[in-house]
Amino acid sequence: MVKVLVAAPLHPKAVEKLRSAGFEVIVKEYPPEDELVELVRDVDAIIVRSKPKVTRRVIEAAEKLKVIGRAGVGIDNIDLEAAKEKGIEVLNTPGAPSRSVAELAIGLMLAVARKIAFADRKMREGVWAKKQCMGFELRGKTLGVIGMGRIGREVARIAYNGFGMKILYYDARGHMEDVEKEFNAEFKELDELLRESDIVTLHVPLLPSTRHLINEDRLKLMKRTAILINTARGGVVDTEALVKALSEGWIAGAGLDVYEEEPLPKDHPLTRLDNVVLTPHIGSTTNEAQERAGVQIAEKIIEFFKSRAG
Ligand code: NAD
Repeated sequence: MVKVLVAAPLHPKAVEKLRSAGFEVIVKEYPPEDELVELVRDVDAIIVRSKPKVTRRVIEAAEKLKVIGRAGVGIDNIDLEAAKEKGIEVLNTPGAPSRSVAELAIGLMLAVARKIAFADRKMREGVWAKKQCMGFELRGKTLGVIGMGRIGREVARIAYNGFGMKILYYDARGHMEDVEKEFNAEFKELDELLRESDIVTLHVPLLPSTRHLINEDRLKLMKRTAILINTARGGVVDTEALVKALSEGWIAGAGLDVYEEEPLPKDHPLTRLDNVVLTPHIGSTTNEAQERAGVQIAEKIIEFFKSRAG
C-alpha cells in the first residue's frame, strides 16, 4: 500500500482523495527535522507546503520515497539536488493560485483608482474626504500586462471582459496568438507599454532578468496619471525608485502585495504615502486557492502512482 506523509496543513478534501485512492495517509503538521527524519523512513510520498524543509538529511533517510508534492508553487524548501540524485520526483501546483492573485490585482487597481483605502482611513479619523477622493473608471482604460503567463492572462480576462479595458502585453516569449485573439491584446516592447498604459500590472517571476525590471528610468516613462500594480515579487521593482516616483508624482499611485523585504518593515517610507495601497502578500490567501492546491497535489500524486503501476 502507498504510504503518504502529509507534513503540512492540507485541505480535508485532499486528504479524503488520497484515502479514497486506497493510500495510507499519516498527517503530522510541520514536524521538526529530527521527527521528520523518523516519519519519512518508510513513506512513498511526502506532501508539504512552503514548510517544512525537505532537506538532504530528510531525503536520505527516506529509503522508499518516490515523490515529494508541494501544495502550492515555490519549491525552494525542497533540496532539489538531493531529490534528483535519488531519482525522486518533485511535483507542485502552479495553477492553483492564479485566479486568486488575479482578483487581488484587480482589487488593488480599483482600490487605488477610487482611493478606497485612503477614504476608509479618513472615515475612521472622522474626516469626510469627498473632495480628495476624485478617482477614475477602469472602463476604456489601457492595461499593460507585463508577463502574460497564467496570472497575467487571468487579469487580462477579467479586465477585458469585466471592465472593457484595452490590453497591451509584454512577455519574454514574444507574441502570443491565443492572447491576441481572446483579449484583442497587442504586444508591445516594454518601454512602449510603459508609455502607453494607464495601469501597469506585473506578473513575471523574479529572475536575474526581471530583478528591478521596473527601475527609475522605466518609472519615468509611465504616464503621470498611471498606476503600478505588483502582485508578482517585490524584487521586480526598485523600491527606492518607486518611493521617489510616488512622492514626486512621476506616477499617480501603486497597489502592492509583495515587497523586496517581507514583512515590510514598520515605518517603511511606503507606509507614509497616501497614494499607495499595501497588502501583506495575500495573493493566494483564499479558501479556493488553498483547496485547489491541496486537491491538485493529491490528484497529481495519485496519478503518479497509477502511471507507475500501469
Ligand atoms: P507563469 O510562469 O505562468 O507566467 C510568467 C510569465 O512571465 C511567462 O509568460 C514568462 O514567459 C514571463 N517572463 C519570464 N521572464 C520574463 C522576462 N524577463 N520578461 C518578460 N516576461 C518574462 O507564472 P504565473 O503563475 O503567472 O505567476 C507569475 C508570478 O506571480 C510568479 O512567478 C510569482 O512570483 C507570483 N505569484 C505571486 C503570488 C502572491 O501571493 N502575490 C502568488 C502566486 C504567484
